[in-house]
Amino acid sequence: MSGLQIRNIRSGYDKVDVLHDVSIDVEPGKITCILGANGAGKTTLIRAILGLTPPRAGQVIWDGVDITKEKTHRIVARGIACIPEGRKVFPRMSVEENLILGAYLEKGGAQLRERIDYVYSVFPRLKERSGQLAGTMSGGEQAMVSIGRGLMAAPRLLVIDEPSLGLSPLFVKENFKVIQQINERGITVLLVEQNARQTLAIAHRGYVLTQGRVVAQGSAQELADNDEVRAAYFSKSTGAST
Ligand code: ATP
Repeated sequence: MSGLQIRNIRSGYDKVDVLHDVSIDVEPGKITCILGANGAGKTTLIRAILGLTPPRAGQVIWDGVDITKEKTHRIVARGIACIPEGRKVFPRMSVEENLILGAYLEKGGAQLRERIDYVYSVFPRLKERSGQLAGTMSGGEQAMVSIGRGLMAAPRLLVIDEPSLGLSPLFVKENFKVIQQINERGITVLLVEQNARQTLAIAHRGYVLTQGRVVAQGSAQELADNDEVRAAYFSKSTGAST
């Protein structure tokens, strides 16, 4: 079986469990989203997938291989990349230097150039600004650098943590469009978000996480039509997304 399957995981910190019996399927080639409010356990779930906070029970299966107990660098080498929350760029490095840092697993020069050109084809704006210090760019442009750096590892699965956080509505829209384009180029996406409206507009399927439990799941359309999801998320996300 390909794609990512999270099977009944339990995870947390110290003696406290944050995730309780969470199961999620990320279908290859699709955008799967996880919606959840602050503290729902979204980041803990990402940490579990990447081996940063290994689950206490359950399994994480990637491309049919059990990666639950693997070290993070092994998991990344298997083609899973993560774009962290908060658009973390290296501010005193140029755009291109930031991108090169994303390809640290890569040894050859020719392939490095190919990857950089690929990122520039996705984000022509970054090509125009390749020599500019990343810290002097706008929030939306820094988000492109951050996503571009993730693409430099040539991932097959891109896990994106709250890409809309702290961005103006215009940049949020742009950013989501870019995520959709990346997916159309064949990269599987797991999108973790609070902004339900924009997320469900581009996702194929989704899950709702509340206090560390999956409380709803279905196609993006089913979730958008779900009364509880609408009550919990849509009123909140209106301001941020329109
Ligand atoms: P946010 O959108 O605010 O990032 P989230 O859905 O990503 O929220 P998590 O960051 O996974 O939620 O946090 C879930 C719970 O785990 C919270 O109660 C939080 O206080 C707790 N938690 C998160 N990180 C740690 C940590 N390193 N040590 C102890 N508890 C933590």
